[in-house]
Amino acid sequence: MINKILIANRGEIACRVIRSAKKLGVATVAVYSDADIHAQHVQLADEAIHLGPAVASQSYLNGDLIIEKAISLGVQGIHPGYGFLSENASFAEKCAKHNIVFIGPSADAIRAMGSKSAAKTIMQEANVPLVPGYHGSNQHPDFLRDKANEIGYPVLLKAAAGGGGKGMRQVFADKEFFDALNAAKREAKNSFDDDLMLVEKYLTEPRHVEIQVFCDNHGNGVYLFERDCSVQRRHQKIIEEAPAPGLSESLRKEMGEAALKAAFAINYTGAGTVEFLLDSDGSFYFMEMNTRLQVEHPVTEFITGEDLVEWQLSVANNEVLPKTQSELNITGHAFEARIYAEDPNNEFLPSTGRLVKILEPEGSASVRVDTGVISGDEVSIYYDPMIAKLIVHSDSRDKALAVLIRCLKQYMVCGVTTNIDYLIQVASSVPFQQAQLTTDFIERHADALKGTENTPHLSELSLLCASAVISVSSEANVISENQNNFRLNHSHASIVKFEINQQALELKQVALKDGSFELALPTGNTWYKAHRDANNLYVTTQSGTGSYAIAENHEHIWIQMEYGTLCITKVLPDYGTDADEAHAGDIIAPMNGTIVDIMVQAGQTVEKDDLLVIVEAMKMEHSLRAPYSGLVKECFVNKGDLVDGSDILVSLEKQE
Ligand code: ADP
Repeated sequence: MINKILIANRGEIACRVIRSAKKLGVATVAVYSDADIHAQHVQLADEAIHLGPAVASQSYLNGDLIIEKAISLGVQGIHPGYGFLSENASFAEKCAKHNIVFIGPSADAIRAMGSKSAAKTIMQEANVPLVPGYHGSNQHPDFLRDKANEIGYPVLLKAAAGGGGKGMRQVFADKEFFDALNAAKREAKNSFDDDLMLVEKYLTEPRHVEIQVFCDNHGNGVYLFERDCSVQRRHQKIIEEAPAPGLSESLRKEMGEAALKAAFAINYTGAGTVEFLLDSDGSFYFMEMNTRLQVEHPVTEFITGEDLVEWQLSVANNEVLPKTQSELNITGHAFEARIYAEDPNNEFLPSTGRLVKILEPEGSASVRVDTGVISGDEVSIYYDPMIAKLIVHSDSRDKALAVLIRCLKQYMVCGVTTNIDYLIQVASSVPFQQAQLTTDFIERHADALKGTENTPHLSELSLLCASAVISVSSEANVISENQNNFRLNHSHASIVKFEINQQALELKQVALKDGSFELALPTGNTWYKAHRDANNLYVTTQSGTGSYAIAENHEHIWIQMEYGTLCITKVLPDYGTDADEAHAGDIIAPMNGTIVDIMVQAGQTVEKDDLLVIVEAMKMEHSLRAPYSGLVKECFVNKGDLVDGSDILVSLEKQE
């Protein structure tokens, strides 16, 4: 019987595992790096042990050290969470060697599914349908290109060792093939130290439907139905739901049984997910099997009423599965939205920084927030930028969606750029409401996701901004107009300065004796009164009083509004057209990262869209292309250089 486990992970999943372990009376040991000394998973666990520096290879990926610590603390099981060591077969093997239960499948099963190409070979033998493509060992670029031509464009290049959408490139035409292959290989080498590639037919309008399976050590296996994870950016899921809308009972059963066939083909044990692409004609194709608990497992927990971590622990204890297939049912509908520190307006690039304030929607039996951070914590460059998962449940899809939107609107994360407003737009969009789910949802419905309808009028915004600025009494932003003849108890004029959406605004207002203001707006003068407490701003106008969640740091004020969070910049930067002009021809690093390659040199002319520089940040490659045809005046960086966000990389003179 396992009564003490070590969780070889961090963040929300470590906290999640600790929660179930506590419920079962199992003692927990957290591990942490230098960056996580004060992290929530460390606080929640019964014991915590330091591993090493922030960089994952020296902490959360250091399997030998983790096993050493586990032995010294008398731990009987290691839960790997997802990511890090969760799909590392030799780690699972080492655990077994030291008589520690790896809470996951056997090393052989991990190995069998660890390579997407080997997995496809096994599935082919088990008669599970595959996406047409090449998954062999011949990696000669010309050979792969021939295969791509045979399959027919568009194709998808995929790293056999891939995960998290890394090492993947769509190719639409023969002439793009080698560039895409090189980029995918480089990203794969960097992330997985393995650049074996497969080529697949790129299906243009599929859905991503995956099946949760569970097997025990006694030959039993069940499927806990499906999740639709079609809404993705950069091949990474952002909103998942269960069950998959519109899936017929017969198709559900067929896919569930195909998934179990896949699991049985490799003698699988524990929690696993078989991912399929579902085409509009109802055909489905095996994509890969993830041999671990998935990020999105909570939606399955909501619709089945089961605790999957509890199931994992009972399988690890050699028990039979808690339920048989006929005892499992779907109740209602669940959504999960992933809250990321990233900028949807800048290619979803991760953002880092201090989480000045987090206001979460209230949890309940049908609203769950899985997170590993609290206000004051830092989103660092070292780990995944996911801040939290918001999971909701209700009787029907429509009702659950209404709860999701309401909760997203209550969610406020200040200090880093997040995707919350974007999630609100996705969830409120007509195509999403109508469940028009395809994996290219984000690109296909880009226009519907602009979400301008709910944005308030400039006058309403201005009033709120003025109230906010006044309420935080930031002197630099409120300039008195008649300082010299200022007299107490007399109304006096001032200018409120701030910036929203990179636009500087100056508003004139007159302070009245009773502490209210008369604000000059383009629509006419408006009377208002503002005050705040720790969390809220109260604004009273002729039409009543509104309250808004508010937070601030030295630079910004954030206000939560109906359409999302409004970020006001307090101190105005020095505007100068000169500076803008000076940067006009510069190619700027989008964020902190490493120069992977620089394709041009000074004196070279380039065409619009030519590849100039490849920057790697958080293990993702970003290609910087020429915004126009021009002459490369100077290159400021070399391959391998570390750069900060907004560093100038190349100066490019425009040529007509
Ligand atoms: P990873 O392991 O990196 O997450 P997957 O193989 O699971 O990669 O694929 C991630 C996503 O990429 C899928 O959910 C799907 O949206 C898209 N995708 C993968 N293969 C194909 C394909 N052959 N055609 C179209 N889209 C695909």
